[in-house]
Amino acid sequence: MFVSKLVEARAARYQAVALLGLSEGLFPVVENPDPFLDEQSRHDLKMESRLERDQKSTFYQAFTRADTHLLLTRPYLSEDGEKWEPSPYWRAAEMLFTENAKTDKQTFIKRPLSEAASRQEFLFWNVQQGQPHNFADEELNSRFQNLAKAGGILDVRRAKRTNSVYEGDLTSLASLLGQQYSQEHNWSASRLEAYSNCPFRFFTSGVLGLDITKPIELGLDIRQIGTLYHRILELVYAQAANQGTNPLEILDDVAEGVFTNAPRWLGFRPTALWEVEKSQHLEKLHNSLEAMESERGSWQPIAFEAKFGSNGSPSLVLERDGDLVRIHGIIDRVDRNPDGEVRVIDYKTGSSNIGNRDLVEGTRLQLPVYAKAAELALELGEVVDGFYWLINAGSPSSLTLTKFKSEQGEGFDAACRIAINHIHNNVNMVRRGNFRAKTPQKGCAVYCPASIYCWRYQARSNNG
Ligand code: SF4
Repeated sequence: MFVSKLVEARAARYQAVALLGLSEGLFPVVENPDPFLDEQSRHDLKMESRLERDQKSTFYQAFTRADTHLLLTRPYLSEDGEKWEPSPYWRAAEMLFTENAKTDKQTFIKRPLSEAASRQEFLFWNVQQGQPHNFADEELNSRFQNLAKAGGILDVRRAKRTNSVYEGDLTSLASLLGQQYSQEHNWSASRLEAYSNCPFRFFTSGVLGLDITKPIELGLDIRQIGTLYHRILELVYAQAANQGTNPLEILDDVAEGVFTNAPRWLGFRPTALWEVEKSQHLEKLHNSLEAMESERGSWQPIAFEAKFGSNGSPSLVLERDGDLVRIHGIIDRVDRNPDGEVRVIDYKTGSSNIGNRDLVEGTRLQLPVYAKAAELALELGEVVDGFYWLINAGSPSSLTLTKFKSEQGEGFDAACRIAINHIHNNVNMVRRGNFRAKTPQKGCAVYCPASIYCWRYQARSNNG
């Protein structure tokens, strides 16, 4: 048997000839100049030419060397396992023979490994047939290990239920996490809510401390718009309370001051339309503020961006069966009525409504937490109500603490009880190391830091 490159086998005739590798880009090979040696240097050094190789003629000569038998083969899987198209020579040869002359080695049919037309096929069949994998060839061994690893990852990704250490199953670290998140830990109210939405998101941002850092971009993103609106409303109500003026009268001036510093403060580059965008934001805030003022009645705002559990103010401490959970957070606004009763308001810029179901399912927990914090930690008075104010919609959420209804109870106390139960459950799950990814029903938040690598990511249909 004589094995050689095609060019070296041209002059003789053979009883049987086997031509290998008739796949696209392999033969004829894609011609590229040598980046280090030009053609003349290659010629002088008696090296094979890289350009104008007349591969058609070489193929013709090889094809016509056989006296009685001719075998043409080609791999149908590329090195990375993708389908590999046949070369034009293969297609041309196909036209000369009947269909019977061709044999497909389908992946699902078991074949002797000796029939594999490439290393990739050899490995593929090896894995498929569960063959022992101690090869003499080191490269094959290492590629087999990589394939086995990739297979394991694919299995995990395809599984409906997340059940792997790569997707937040850290139960093996429960004792460490129990110490880290002991009764002394000061939890963030918004992060505990994020746990209900997706434990893996909580793990990524809350435990690993990862965040998405973006270069300064043109225009505002949804998160920055939310921060901008919060800041303007906070300043408007704080100044109106100080000066005893109508918030609507000072909105324009306050907003202009915030807009001026916004690019530097929020880290974005204003677009050519920034002036137009400012007037659109202002109009939206104006409509929202007007609606808020007409809803306010005799309620007087008494606190804005009220912090609890930080800056020297006490944490909210929740207790269940002897277990304590300390929480910090910021309440957007607290109002008091002439009877001394208090209500809490949390501003939201998302477009979706927030209903009773969100609280029952634990995906909206901040409002009852803020209500308890205003009363127990900040001691602002007896809290009797609370709602989310939807800035874009210019209306309160359908979820309010007094009108809350569910199968588990109705009204303010039931809403708080359900939220507190969720919080204790979430805390226990964190301590046990359960951070399994769970795609939120409404899709993943664009600012979830895991969204750049999490394969459970699903885009939101809106930014609610
Ligand atoms: S991308 Fe979606 S599923 Fe993945 S961690 Fe974030 S919220 Fe959870």
